[in-house]
Amino acid sequence: MPNLLSSAELLRYSRHLLIPEIGESGQLRLKNSAVLLIGAGALGSPAALYLAAAGVGRLGLVDADVVELSNLQRQILHGESWLGQPKLDSAAARLREVNPHVQVELHRGRFTPDNALEIVSGYDILVDGSDNFPTRFLTNDSAFWLRKPLVYGAIHRFAGQTGVFAPHLGGPCFRCMLPQLPALGSIPSCQEAGVLGVLPGIIGSLQALETLKLILGIGTVPLGKLTVCDALQSEFRSLKLHRDPQCRLCGDHPDILSVANAETTAAATCNSPSNIMDSITTTELRALLGDNFTGLLIDVREPDEHAIAHIEGARLIPLKTLPAMIGELPLDRDIYIHCKSGMRSARAVGMLQERGFTRVQNVAGGIDAWLEHGCHD
Ligand SMILES: [Zn+2]
Repeated sequence: MPNLLSSAELLRYSRHLLIPEIGESGQLRLKNSAVLLIGAGALGSPAALYLAAAGVGRLGLVDADVVELSNLQRQILHGESWLGQPKLDSAAARLREVNPHVQVELHRGRFTPDNALEIVSGYDILVDGSDNFPTRFLTNDSAFWLRKPLVYGAIHRFAGQTGVFAPHLGGPCFRCMLPQLPALGSIPSCQEAGVLGVLPGIIGSLQALETLKLILGIGTVPLGKLTVCDALQSEFRSLKLHRDPQCRLCGDHPDILSVANAETTAAATCNSPSNIMDSITTTELRALLGDNFTGLLIDVREPDEHAIAHIEGARLIPLKTLPAMIGELPLDRDIYIHCKSGMRSARAVGMLQERGFTRVQNVAGGIDAWLEHGCHD
C-alpha cells in the first residue's frame, strides 16, 4: 500500500490537505481505497468524475452499453466523439484525463448473479448507478453478502433520492425500503419517464460525497436515512428508513440465501405491485401466438413507439386511454398486455384486475425482451 504522496499529488490535492479532517493521512486513505460503480451512465458520470478528481485510488466500472446521442443530455462522462463506442472506453479516457493517478478498472458486460460477487469482492464500496430494478436488487444483495456499504441513488423526472445501505454497520438494506415505495407497477422505467438533465448531477454528486465520507471516516453516514430531492420545489427532505424484520434478505427469517436469484426475485417484485399478478415470458407468448391464438394481445405504449416496432396482431391501447376502453374488453378471453419493458403493462394489468378481469397477464420484459429474443416477426 502506498504510504506517501508524490510532489505532484501533494500539489494536486492541496485543497484537501488544507482541511484538518482530511490532511495527508486522509488523502492516503483515498488513494488506498477502491470504489465500484455499477453503471457509467447518468448517476455514474458525476460520481465517477468527482471520485476520480478526489483521488480515489482504484475506480471500477461495470457497464454493457454504448454511448448514444440520447445519453448526452445528462451523462457527462461521454461526448460526441464516442457515439457508438462502449461507455466504458469513453469513461476510462475521460477519467484518466481528469486524474492519471487513478487506476480505472473496466468490467465489460452485464452485471449478473454469475459475476457479481467476484467483481464486488475487489472493492470497498459500491455506488449504485443502475437504471433498472433487477440490477439494483443484485447490487444490494451482493453488497449485503460481502458486507460492503452501498451508496444508493435514483432519479425520476424532477425527483431524486439517495442514501447508504449497509446492514453490517446498522440500518436497513434496499429491500427493506422497497415495500415503502409506491406500487412498483406505477413506476415507469427511466427510459419511459424521462429525467431532467441536471438531476443526476445532483444525486450522483451526493453519492460521491457519501462515498468520500465513508472512506475518510468523517461526518455521519446516513444509515437509515433517505434524502429526497424535489427539484421543482427546490427542496431536500429526509425520510427515516428502518430495517424490516420481515426483509427477505436482511430480516430475521430470510429466504434469500444467495445472489443466485437476486434478479428474479426483483423481477417478481417489480412486475407485481400486488404480488398476485400473473406474467408470461416472451418465449411463452411466442408459443401461444399463431392461427390458433384465441386471446387478446394489447400494447399499452404510445402510437409512435408502436410504429417503430410492434408485435404482429397486438392491439394498440395506450395506457392513458385504457380506463376509457376497459368496458369494451372481453372478460371471457385471455388477455396479454405488453409495453416497452413491463412497467406500464404491469400497471395496466393491475387496472384490469381491479375491474374484475381474472384472465389477464403481463408480458414480462415487454417488447424489449421480445426483440432481444429474436422474435421480429
Ligand atoms: Zn433488508
